[in-house]
Amino acid sequence: MTIRRHYRYGSGTDTVLGTRVGRFNLGINTTFIIYRIGDTVIDTGPSNQWRHVRRVLQQDWQHTPLRQLLITHHHEDHSGNAARIAALSGIVPHAPQLGQAKLASGYRTPLLQKMIWGSPRPVQTTPLHDQLTLADGSPVLPVHTPGHAKDLTCLYLPRQKYLFSGDMYISKSLKYLRKDENLQQLMDSLARLLTLDFDILFCPHRGIVEDGRNALQEKYDNLQALCRQAATLHQQGLDTTQITEKLLGPEDWMARVTGNNLCKGNLIRQAIHWQPGGC
Ligand SMILES: [Zn+2]
Repeated sequence: MTIRRHYRYGSGTDTVLGTRVGRFNLGINTTFIIYRIGDTVIDTGPSNQWRHVRRVLQQDWQHTPLRQLLITHHHEDHSGNAARIAALSGIVPHAPQLGQAKLASGYRTPLLQKMIWGSPRPVQTTPLHDQLTLADGSPVLPVHTPGHAKDLTCLYLPRQKYLFSGDMYISKSLKYLRKDENLQQLMDSLARLLTLDFDILFCPHRGIVEDGRNALQEKYDNLQALCRQAATLHQQGLDTTQITEKLLGPEDWMARVTGNNLCKGNLIRQAIHWQPGGC
């Protein structure tokens, strides 16, 4: 039994249902919530949880058939079951244009990620676009927010004041960065999201954040403070390792198990060069 928890928020056609799945229950970064609002599913969960994802989706389909599947970015925990959901339902998933080639060809992932999530499966998609709606006709607006991944696109529901945030939130403070993440873009994207009028944030790892806009603001403020402190220490002549140890503590098990793919040094190296309002 690897369904970890069910979620429910809102009422009537604005009701959002969530199901958390995951092979390992080692915290929010090893489990994933698939969200559903009416006939729309947002992200798919990882491929090694297909048995559970299928059961939940099929139970829901008895009440409301799936009309559209929206993928926020190509990472395997978000897209791993897209091919199987497409085959089962006959729909073509929507995905960010910048992620479509990777989704179509499949791609390699590190061993640790393979253990946690399973491997992504190639899937044909059609682009997300500005005319997407829920069953009641209310708009679903894609907002491109690169940084964590080039293709990451949040889904903003202005009438409900909901934000499906892909991997833009996860936590109020960041301690590690992946090698392929771009901190400057990530912060510019956070700033872009903070111009939107939303209340509730739906994070597939953290869960439903009711004070979502303030939580995202806090994340931005914390990162900005970290960048400023890192730049000051850099100007004082400290090297990356010294700055990392001073601000975040020494590298730990995360750097070791990921072979420095996800580590504190990656964050500090980019924090030093962050420019406010830069692009
Ligand atoms: Zn991701």
